[in-house]
Amino acid sequence: MYELRCRDVGFDCPGVVHGLTKDDVLKQAAAHAAEAHNTQVTPVMAEQVAALIHLRAEDTPGAQG
Ligand SMILES: [Zn+2]
Repeated sequence: MYELRCRDVGFDCPGVVHGLTKDDVLKQAAAHAAEAHNTQVTPVMAEQVAALIHLRAEDTPGAQG
């Protein structure tokens, strides 16, 4: 399960989107940005956002706590 925190993108927002794949997270992030922030995700922005998507800690092999 992948995760993206909206605040990591630069918004002052507690929103977090999850997805089984990075593509899925990107789609949900784009929907969230449009709905919550009235922001259209451009291809350039999507690339930057994709770099911020990470595996949820509890799903990372060997993660502690
Ligand atoms: Zn947000």
